[in-house]
Amino acid sequence: MAQQFGQFTASELYCPKCKQSQPVRERLLLVLPTGELHEFLCTRCGTSLGKRTVTGPAVAAAAPPRPAPALPRRKLLR
Ligand SMILES: [Zn+2]
Repeated sequence: MAQQFGQFTASELYCPKCKQSQPVRERLLLVLPTGELHEFLCTRCGTSLGKRTVTGPAVAAAAPPRPAPALPRRKLLR
């Protein structure tokens, strides 16, 4: 059996209900202005095992401010 690399972002987390680490499933919980709040659910019993915030493609906010274009000094050539 070949190993499959799916779209798993988190592999396993300890589930207090199952009393063992379980594979988790990620679910979109909230969309925030700063990003998306995802929740990790136990695939077996559905207990929320954790959350994480995914900062979206807010490149404009993350990018450093644009440097002001330096105006070349005009040289008076005579
Ligand atoms: Zn569980």
